[in-house]
Amino acid sequence: MIAIGEYTCSEGSSPGEAVLVCVEPGCGAYALRCCRKACSCKNAHLGHQLMDFDILLKDVDRPLTLPAPQALLEKRIEDTIEGLIRDLEVLRAKHREHVKEHLQRVYGGSTLRRQLAERRPLERETSTGNNFSSLLK
Ligand SMILES: [Zn+2]
Ligand SMILES: [Zn+2]
Repeated sequence: MIAIGEYTCSEGSSPGEAVLVCVEPGCGAYALRCCRKACSCKNAHLGHQLMDFDILLKDVDRPLTLPAPQALLEKRIEDTIEGLIRDLEVLRAKHREHVKEHLQRVYGGSTLRRQLAERRPLERETSTGNNFSSLLK
């Protein structure tokens, strides 16, 4: 990125800092002009419409915005995408909960396994060698 002061006019051997810009419709010459009275860069733009180069640059730097109808459409699309993202987050949470419940129901094992996993006291009826044996399968 070059600094504003580094833009120069079209003078060949010692170009001056660009201060003005030609905005004449139909002008085919290099548009940037310095402010030196004797500089040759002004010759191609005699009688042409000129403006301050820094003002033109400020205009270029303004953020681009959509016309109102397109801005409204763009907002609707943003809102739709936002809604879909929220719906998908809810779906993911439900899916994870479902998988967790499925794991517990199908692979969670016996009462004995849950009692041990939660470090709860064991019951005599369910704490048999056979059930401990089943734990290891
Ligand atoms: Zn010049
Ligand atoms: Zn011109």
